[in-house]
Amino acid sequence: MKKILLIGTGGTIASEMTSNGLAPELTAQQLAALVPALTEICEVYCVELMNLDSTNISPRHWLQMARCIQTHYDACDGFVLTHGTDTMAYTAAALSYLIQGSPKPIVLTGAQKPIGFETTDSKDNLTDAFRCAASDLPGVSIVFNHQVILGVRARKTHTKSFQAFSSINYPNLGILRDGVLLRYIRQECYERPVFYDRLNSRVALMKLVPGAGREQADFLLERNDALIIESFGVGGLPDEGGFFDCIRRWRDAGKLLVLTTQVANEGSDLDVYYVGRRLKSDLQVLEAYDMTTEAVTAKLMWILGQTQDLAQAERLFYTPVARDILWPAVNP
Ligand code: ASP
Repeated sequence: MKKILLIGTGGTIASEMTSNGLAPELTAQQLAALVPALTEICEVYCVELMNLDSTNISPRHWLQMARCIQTHYDACDGFVLTHGTDTMAYTAAALSYLIQGSPKPIVLTGAQKPIGFETTDSKDNLTDAFRCAASDLPGVSIVFNHQVILGVRARKTHTKSFQAFSSINYPNLGILRDGVLLRYIRQECYERPVFYDRLNSRVALMKLVPGAGREQADFLLERNDALIIESFGVGGLPDEGGFFDCIRRWRDAGKLLVLTTQVANEGSDLDVYYVGRRLKSDLQVLEAYDMTTEAVTAKLMWILGQTQDLAQAERLFYTPVARDILWPAVNP
């Protein structure tokens, strides 16, 4: 039987009702004990790493998770992390950069309703996650509501429905039907994963609104090493507001600037319009293309943890990791 490690980090799945609302209380051991069918799938081992609402999960916790997986990597055949849904997509992306090319499954799951509630998605999600962790499913993925989503492509798109996550600009890796994994895509992997242990969390995100000026961007760039600007449509910045001077100044100061879109699907394409093309031709900003904002955030933190060199950082940004970015590969 395969050996699967359950790593508890908190979230709704482990929550109980308190006088102040839902809060994570149950340990990984307690979660596993509530789903006895898991022992029919594999040998279950448990580690309680943290017990947090995922609103409180930050890059230092991502490093702890990656370290825990590295420590137990040889002893186990697969990993299940139970995690709050709110920031699960960020964690899945971060783990995809911190642990690259894993031949063993690293599966994140959670729930919209606590495991102790009469109506809950917790038990199905946990069971599906274990089935996937005991299968041939390399790399980092989210298993939720019978779908398997690539870690770098996941986004929380519903706050309450059981169908909480969508795969953005990429097909699902598979589905679970009556407990059977139908795998459509097998991720490429290495013989041994490459683990990283450094992140630079000085990465900020700014969502553009009509009429915005450069003040916010200046504020964020003074305090961070990279800024992601979520602009409109396929991408561009307004003529008014001083953005072009702002970007020139901060790029010359060695900051990374990435343009992406606030539209959910199909990504950016700065070349299309005048408002976007100049950003690349004159100012050499980076472009997210089909990457999710969650993945861009985690990737920048990983890149800036490895290098201070701008040219090297830009090269790494466009180098696909776990199929996070496909567009430049077909449009060199
Ligand atoms: N607030 C919870 C969390 O992210 C929501 C959930 O798990 O569904 O930890």
